[in-house]
Amino acid sequence: NAKALGKGIVVTFDPSMRKDFERRGRLETNLKHALTNGDIFPFYQPQMDIRNGQLVGFEALARWKHSELGWIGPNEFIPIAETSSQIVELGRCILTTACVDAMAFPDNIRVSVNLSVGQMLRDDVIGMVTGILASTGFPAHRLTLEVTESVMMSEPELATRILNGLKDLGISIALDDFGTGYSALSYLRQFDWDELKIDKSFVDDLGDDPRALSIVESVVDLATELGMKVVAEGVETGAQHEILRKSGCHIAQGYLLGRPQPIDQVHLTLLKSLAENGTDVEAKTAAR
Ligand code: C2E
Ligand code: MG
Ligand code: MG
Ligand code: MG
Repeated sequence: NAKALGKGIVVTFDPSMRKDFERRGRLETNLKHALTNGDIFPFYQPQMDIRNGQLVGFEALARWKHSELGWIGPNEFIPIAETSSQIVELGRCILTTACVDAMAFPDNIRVSVNLSVGQMLRDDVIGMVTGILASTGFPAHRLTLEVTESVMMSEPELATRILNGLKDLGISIALDDFGTGYSALSYLRQFDWDELKIDKSFVDDLGDDPRALSIVESVVDLATELGMKVVAEGVETGAQHEILRKSGCHIAQGYLLGRPQPIDQVHLTLLKSLAENGTDVEAKTAAR
């Protein structure tokens, strides 16, 4: 009973908890149909070269367009997919659509797709990725798969073997959300990561916390020294962008540069970037 839990702790059955529970159950039941029906698909968030502002790629971020509940974000449905083991199908679905969509992008534009730990350790990911690259024709060297360090925690040998197999296909591997969780330096040593993504929580504090700044500067130096490309997530202000540029970070991603957007808007973003780089080339030619 509530009293046994100690002084000052009150246990209640909040009606909102019941609602959350019902919503979760409903989403879990709807998930399979949503996947086969194409209601879950990626939005794309631009990634820019921090030095010259050029568009270099997009991160695919899953969205669910629910016929009754409206838009649902991945923080809500990815965990449901993980526990109900539909994460394998969801992962296959997002990667396939991302590769099909990206076939229409200029060939200097990359695409990054998130890979969940459950999906990676449960399924034959190498076989799945090989199949999708073959069927869509998307070149492996323009694809990055993002994983978090938690992938190294439960079964480090298996994880390393799988990640190396993916690298052998020509794919780049990014360490996502760096700075959250344990961020043990041993994870940097265990695998030859191509990219390190500095978590938004560090970027948020850059303006006013000198410790956050020191950590970011050191992480950028270390990662660069190890041959990794450094991407900053969640860049929202010009001040953050400037600090990151000065610290030597390579790529920026965040609302300042662009929100995750549906594919038809991506085509406009690509046109705009083409136009800007076009005038850039013209300006340089004129200056000569
Ligand atoms: P993530 O991979 O770290 O992705 C970055 C998240 O930060 C995205 O949230 C993005 O919309 C958000 N973000 C980017 N810039 C800004 C900014 O300037 N301000 C703020 N406030 N937020 C920003 P989102 O799309 O809700 O995705 C959340 C997480 O869900 C992702 O974190 C990723 O771990 C997971 N996820 C998304 N799509 C997939 C997927 O297809 N498969 C798997 N396994 N996980 C996915
Ligand atoms: Mg990511
Ligand atoms: Mg991230
Ligand atoms: Mg993050």
